[in-house]
Formats: sequence, C-alpha cells, structure tokens
Amino acid sequence: MSTEQAADPQKAANAALGKFFELIKQGYSRCLHYNMDCKKDAIRAHSIQNNKVLDLLQRDNHVIVPKNKIIAGKATAEFGPLGRHQASTFTGLCAEHDTELFKLADTLPLDTGNKEQLNRYAYRAGMREMHACVEAGGRFFALEAENIKKGITKPITPNAAGIAALEFSMRAWRVFRYRTKYFDKPILAGTEPPVEHHIIDLENQTPSVAVSSLFSVGQAQKKRYPRRDADGRARKRNQNHGPRLLCHGPGRCGEERPAVSV
Ligand SMILES: [Zn+2]
Repeated sequence: MSTEQAADPQKAANAALGKFFELIKQGYSRCLHYNMDCKKDAIRAHSIQNNKVLDLLQRDNHVIVPKNKIIAGKATAEFGPLGRHQASTFTGLCAEHDTELFKLADTLPLDTGNKEQLNRYAYRAGMREMHACVEAGGRFFALEAENIKKGITKPITPNAAGIAALEFSMRAWRVFRYRTKYFDKPILAGTEPPVEHHIIDLENQTPSVAVSSLFSVGQAQKKRYPRRDADGRARKRNQNHGPRLLCHGPGRCGEERPAVSV
C-alpha cells in the first residue's frame, strides 16, 4: 500500500478493487487430461452442452448467468445476460482430448437412459471444478508474489493471499484424487465409473436452468489447513464428510422438460 493510499482508505479500497478485477482476468489455460502431461493448448469448451442444452435456454443467443459485481464497494452477485457461446466455458482441455472425453455428451441429444453419456456429464463437472480450483489458486499465488514484490507482504509469512492460494491448491488436489479414483482409472481400465445418477423429471415446465458442478457436502479432509478470515483468524469448520457427486441428468431435449444438470 502506498503512503497516499494509507492516508486515504477509499483510494486503498479502489486499488484493491482494481487488483481484484485484474486477477479475475487471469485465466488458466492448460490441458488437464489424465496425467496432465499433454502439451497442446487448451480450448474454450462448454461444460454444459451448447447445441442441445443451452439451445433450450437461450433467447437471442444469450442466457442468464450469475455475475460477480462490486456495488458501492461491496462484492455481490446478480443475474445478467451472457452470450451463449461464452456461457459455462472453461479452458481445461485441448481440442483432441475434449473430443475424446466428451464427444458422447456433446454430439448426441441427452438420453437419461444412456449411463455412459451421464457418466461423461458427471466427469466433465469434475473436470470443470478442478480447472476452477487450479485457476483460483494461480490467481492468489500471483497476488501473493506481487504483494511480496511490492513489500506489502513479507516473504515466508502467513498472509491472506498465500493462505487462499494454498486452500484452492489443496481443493484442486482433492478434486484430482477424486477424479483419478472415480473416473480416470475406471475409464482407462475400460470399466464403468462407479457413479450413481439421480434423475428427477419436472413435468409440464419449460426448460429453465442448467448447471454443471461438482461439490462436496461438508469438508472432504481433516483440519490440516484451517480456513481463515481475511485477518488471519481461524474459522470454525463443519464436521468432516466424504465428497459426494450429485449428478442429475436433464430432461430429454425437445420434450419441453427442464434441463437441469448438477
Ligand atoms: Zn490434451
């Protein structure tokens, strides 16, 4: 923080906001296929099928998505339009591996009776989550490095950016282990991933929402890296629970059913 910013909290807050938006623009673009030794450039691929699912939701080639915003100095989220070709995209696979893994999910209409296709939807939700964690970890590592360079943070000293970077890196590691155990190994062995699919058909409704997401219920590991507030105080954690994948397949395309994929 400069002397000028220290004397003016509003300037310091504006500088922090500027840094926040700068970090958000930094992306992670590498192929995360299996052992992550692929050197090809990642493409911007949809985590939700564009031609079949987003097509049911779009209006004038736009869909409504949650957007992070800063209003009156406070972080908030609100819904707003986004071009369908940008919606739900991530840069975690090269073109070849994206096609190899998700051709079945991308080229055929959704078939809730097709276990293999549902498995690919679930796999992609895990892939997207892993990419999101790696990307967030990279952003916080970059912020910590810059803060050290500017003398804002002392090297090898606990700080909010460094702790956040570690948290996201650990989360990415847990998703990677989960992905390896439940998807990569079975697929490489030519067997079915041990995934359960729960399908709920919502009758007589027009398509309204689609999600591709992997999340755990509770915490997936013991308290090795306590979650901390921005001021460094440890936060109380919930009781440990194992990770669970919840995968709901959308209604069949063209049948006027909601497309919900979690
Ligand atoms: Zn690749």
